[in-house]
Amino acid sequence: MDQPGTDERLLLDLLNSTPVIGGQPTDELSDASAGHAWLTAHGRPAGDAAWRRLRDARDALQGVVRGDVSADDLAPFVRAASYRAGFSDGRVTWSLTAPAADEAAAAAVLAWDAVQSSMPGRLRPCANPDCRLFLLDRSKPNSARWCSMASCGNRMKARRHYERTRGRDDAS
Ligand SMILES: [Zn+2]
Repeated sequence: MDQPGTDERLLLDLLNSTPVIGGQPTDELSDASAGHAWLTAHGRPAGDAAWRRLRDARDALQGVVRGDVSADDLAPFVRAASYRAGFSDGRVTWSLTAPAADEAAAAAVLAWDAVQSSMPGRLRPCANPDCRLFLLDRSKPNSARWCSMASCGNRMKARRHYERTRGRDDAS
């Protein structure tokens, strides 16, 4: 089903499953039914064990990308996973093999590793401290700081401008 490391969307959607909406932190995996829907929407086996495992992997991945915890914390999520070689249309293909409960979590961690290898340093948290989203910077200069310029970029620029002008007033 998966070539190794082709699950960037799964990885990013998972990292970004705890958005702040209207000032309130939310969680797209907050309960079992939401978790099942999320897994199904991403083409993964749904179930309570898979949902719990995915949430644990999400928390670990967010911590690793934020630099709060060691990447070794991701090890348990790939322990039961392997790639099986096949052959199709004259080419070798690879499919992820993992227990159903581990599949989505393992795919996300494997995608994280692939991104680390192919685009080192380009997966990072949004620079807006009030935002809990992550971005994968594909730009040439590797200078993207915000999940989106339209939301966080402009807000942070406005805030910095406000702080600069306020600082000037305080000093005078
Ligand atoms: Zn943001």
